[in-house]
Amino acid sequence: MSTAFIALGSNLCNPVSQVEKALCAIDNHNFIKLEKVSAFYNSPAIGPGVQPTYCNAVAQISTFLTSEKLLKTLQEVEKHQGRQRGRKWAPRTLDLDILMYDQLTITCGQLLLPHPRMHQRAFVLKPLSDLLTKNFVISNESISSLLDKCQDESKVKRIRCYDLKARRSF
Ligand code: AMP
Repeated sequence: MSTAFIALGSNLCNPVSQVEKALCAIDNHNFIKLEKVSAFYNSPAIGPGVQPTYCNAVAQISTFLTSEKLLKTLQEVEKHQGRQRGRKWAPRTLDLDILMYDQLTITCGQLLLPHPRMHQRAFVLKPLSDLLTKNFVISNESISSLLDKCQDESKVKRIRCYDLKARRSF
């Protein structure tokens, strides 16, 4: 059994319910168990132009799937929720990224682990820090020190909590 952390993000078609729906889909998979879910956060979209605000969260799962099969499963969930792959930074109904999978490091190919940009993104680090101790080390640095260095930290706002048993946010 492996432990993985998944980042969820949406800025289209009712982002909060897109994230809730994705969490249910993930938990409904036979070989995945949702262990913990962070609070839900709002964060401004990155990139050019005006875009709706994102809803972001991070989930901790245990799974019997390999990292490659997990990525494939998450891409099916994205597709099922209407994700269209277009230009970079485009708004999206659902974005699912694997942040970490056990202690696995993969530096080339279709799946990179730990996720190569996670340490620069407050909208990932803030929800992730709900699930980890502040001394947890990612890429040789503690999560609290990575968060301190994130310039956009103040723009990431906690908006809701997630109830794992009720499978909804409030
Ligand atoms: P995105 O536009 O963020 O959904 O990017 C998805 C692409 O990033 C996919 O084609 C994946 O093969 C690739 N990718 C590389 N590493 C990861 C990761 N850790 N989690 C999710 N997607 C990844």
